[in-house]
Amino acid sequence: MQLEIEKLSKRYSNGTQALDNISLSVPQGMFGLLGPNGAGKSTLMRTLATLQEADSGSARLDDIDVLRQKDEVRKHLGYLPQEFGLYPKVAAETLLSHFAQLKGVENAKERRDVVQALLRQTNLWDHRKKPLASYSGGMKQRFGIAQALLGNPRLIIVDEPTAGLDPEERIRFHNLLSAIGENVVVILSTHIVSDVSDLCRQMAIIHQGRVLAAGNPTELVTPLNGRVWRKAIAGSEIAGYQQRFKVISMHLFGGRNVLHVLQDDLPEAGFEPVMPDLEDLYFATIKGFTSPTSASGAAN
Ligand code: ADP
Repeated sequence: MQLEIEKLSKRYSNGTQALDNISLSVPQGMFGLLGPNGAGKSTLMRTLATLQEADSGSARLDDIDVLRQKDEVRKHLGYLPQEFGLYPKVAAETLLSHFAQLKGVENAKERRDVVQALLRQTNLWDHRKKPLASYSGGMKQRFGIAQALLGNPRLIIVDEPTAGLDPEERIRFHNLLSAIGENVVVILSTHIVSDVSDLCRQMAIIHQGRVLAAGNPTELVTPLNGRVWRKAIAGSEIAGYQQRFKVISMHLFGGRNVLHVLQDDLPEAGFEPVMPDLEDLYFATIKGFTSPTSASGAAN
């Protein structure tokens, strides 16, 4: 199973170029699509989910032409959109059963079995009789996954699913996604670096509608080895450092400002080398400090 996206472009009528020649190979498993707000992630997700048109380019899910054979795609698609409208007063089990019917599970016994299995899988079994209005953010997202899994999809698209979840809910949701991701293509769109580093063997960084890096997260980070430096400085010094160095990121740690800087050699006394991670790569990439890369060799 494989999703191949080629030269996909989309310009909105107000002139915003949301997708600018996007090409990506998305293999089976969890694929992280990482980018800041406004990068074009939702536009790409909605296009792949057949909810909006691209201007040009193509996308294939194995032998299905995603942009043309929309009914075919929908049969194999599970989608958890960013804004997931729910019927607040309806019990989870009832609503999931209703969605199952819409997905074509006609037989009542089969429907009951499917719904029960999904409620158990998403850890909502004990809450199945409760109305969705009473659900926490994490429970709502797990319900969203349950409905996305109806009909055994081959392609699952989840758009910014962990925004707003507390750390414990995020871990629970990660575990659920990772179990699902073994047998199908799952595209996880997010601006949260740890979503991708925790879960995804393949990823892409997108920014301003373009793919700036694509490949395996560890391999993508490797070229930064020995080039990321850290220093704690006073708040009043920040602007000066930003002028003089390629400042990747700035964190507060113990009340101090800790900078990460990209440079081939020691920037100045007081810096110490750090082992680069995906966050360093992400910020260095979207700030334009790195050249477009692809861990598989072919730059996009
Ligand atoms: P992301 O999901 O990464 O935040 P989006 O795909 O939502 O990015 O948006 C990409 C760009 O397209 C942004 O500049 C956004 O403002 C713009 N955009 C999104 N939807 C529309 C729309 N319906 N009409 C005009 N511009 C849009």
